[in-house]
Amino acid sequence: MAHVQVNQLFKKYGELQVVHGVDFEIGDGEFTVLVGPSGCGKSTILRMIAGLESVTSGDIVINERVVNDIPPRDRDIAMVFQDYALYPHMSVRQNLGFGLKMRNASKVEIDEAVRRTADTLQIGALLHRKPGQLSGGQRQRVAIGRAIAREPQLFLFDEPLSNLDAKLRVEMRTQIKRLHMSFQVTSIYVTHDQTEAMTLADRIVVLRDGRIEQVGTPDDLYSRPANRFVAGFIGSPT
Ligand code: ADP
Ligand code: MG
Repeated sequence: MAHVQVNQLFKKYGELQVVHGVDFEIGDGEFTVLVGPSGCGKSTILRMIAGLESVTSGDIVINERVVNDIPPRDRDIAMVFQDYALYPHMSVRQNLGFGLKMRNASKVEIDEAVRRTADTLQIGALLHRKPGQLSGGQRQRVAIGRAIAREPQLFLFDEPLSNLDAKLRVEMRTQIKRLHMSFQVTSIYVTHDQTEAMTLADRIVVLRDGRIEQVGTPDDLYSRPANRFVAGFIGSPT
């Protein structure tokens, strides 16, 4: 598991300043959601934590280690995006086991991790199929499973459900919640959907224009919004 600190984080793309001094901290095993309107900098922050985007200034600290200059593969992070990229030529079983295999895990370890992940995500019946033989929702479950089976210390999600229809989104929300209950991996989840944030999060970071408006539990934000923006966004009574 991982403890994460983001300290005075800034990001510029050329002359465009998109993250303006963001600070937050995430405890071991916590599920934190970054929420805010499209374009407010959520993906940029997540990508800096993953190491896929450089930091203009500030620090990303994972388990007391500043990781700004550590390449993504050495950060022990798994990431799930909305456009799930599975390996098309591999079966679901091979997709799930791939990360562990790359780390030279034994066959017994891989089988056990695949079984546990498939049980949790209810994809045990699909293990022999290829990604081309799956529905969108099934593919997304496999993509999440593949990430969790690697046993990362930190799990990053970037709007993983936004390409799914409404019914499937609700179902997947439940699956992700169950996954977190069962594996307790520290997770950072980005969404522009306040319902998703309110149902999944232990703690929510509300962003607007690259700045934090409020950090709190779903109940804090709903009952004690810091300002009209948070109240409007979360949908609390004003
Ligand atoms: P969100 O995920 O909250 O929708 P992003 O982090 O993707 O927001 O984008 C924040 C801002 O940064 C937007 O104005 C976006 O256009 C800009 N942006 C994102 N990525 C790049 C990039 N690679 N180059 C230039 N501008 C970018
Ligand atoms: Mg985004």
